[in-house]
Amino acid sequence: MKSAVLVELNKPLLLSEVEVGELSVGQVLVRVLVSGICGSQLHEISGHKGNGKFLPHLMGHEGCGIVEEIGPGVTLVKPGDKVVMHWRPGLGIEAEFPKYKMNGKLFSSGKVNTLTEKSIVSENRLTVVPQDTDPEFAALLGCSLTTALGVIDNESDLKFGERVAVVGCGGVGLNVLAAARLAGAGEIYAVDRTESKKEICLNQGANFFFSDISEIPNKIDLIVDTTGNVEVISKSFGALSNRGRIILLGQPKPGQEIVIPDALAFFNGAGLAIKASQGGSTSPHQDIPRYLELFRLGLISVEKLVTHRFSLTEVNFAFELLLSGDAGRIMISISKEDK
Ligand SMILES: [Zn+2]
Repeated sequence: MKSAVLVELNKPLLLSEVEVGELSVGQVLVRVLVSGICGSQLHEISGHKGNGKFLPHLMGHEGCGIVEEIGPGVTLVKPGDKVVMHWRPGLGIEAEFPKYKMNGKLFSSGKVNTLTEKSIVSENRLTVVPQDTDPEFAALLGCSLTTALGVIDNESDLKFGERVAVVGCGGVGLNVLAAARLAGAGEIYAVDRTESKKEICLNQGANFFFSDISEIPNKIDLIVDTTGNVEVISKSFGALSNRGRIILLGQPKPGQEIVIPDALAFFNGAGLAIKASQGGSTSPHQDIPRYLELFRLGLISVEKLVTHRFSLTEVNFAFELLLSGDAGRIMISISKEDK
């Protein structure tokens, strides 16, 4: 099978033939249909996640696939099931790290990998969905969509009519706009340096588009930052209302500092707050079924979100595009569904 392998930091991924071994307790072999790619994989490629000592390894943490085989002890999925492949642990066994072989050498990888034709996944990183679930939608439930919906639904304490700004409107940010709209936000401001994203942002529920947060004329109750850019985040504090809070989704580079320019103003009103999100505090087994309902009712759509589709062999080009900041959600089609 073909897999995208991170062999060396800051280098393109290697598309290589990789073999899977025997499944151990709690492991599941999944044929991947489609995978998303995510800003946090750019951090992985540059070694910011401390992953440099675990090379080589497979990549990708949001996908949809079909279960091919189950290892000992697995009870929650069976061959033929369509599954969301997610990085947040859900129900089931936490299996050991999977082993793969490349050029005769064994190596291990994370508990879920999606930029590969087949993947050995820990049972608790899989959630079964109905067979007629759109594979791209299911893949987005692995990270970007669950993070975006979770940050609003589980972490933001958003009240009807509150003003929201989403800073950085890539794959996750666009979903946060939609989530804020669903949750009854008041004015929603999309902030992105790429002017050409204006239309897609307005389509996703934003009322206004700005290229810089300091241009917003009103104070904001909830700012969700997806950029991880410490200068942008530091500038955001000045835009907060008296009940303002900032939730960070994008991760700064290791060792960077965020500055609160007027720290006294942080005591305004109810006391301002900053918090880092952990994947929207998603509980996959509880949240994914609820989000499927939103999709079924037409309240969330994939068509509006996905701006580019590539094959696995084009994955490096896809990462370059992601890095450029010019894309919404980018999907990698890996194999076809049997109809
Ligand atoms: Zn992700």
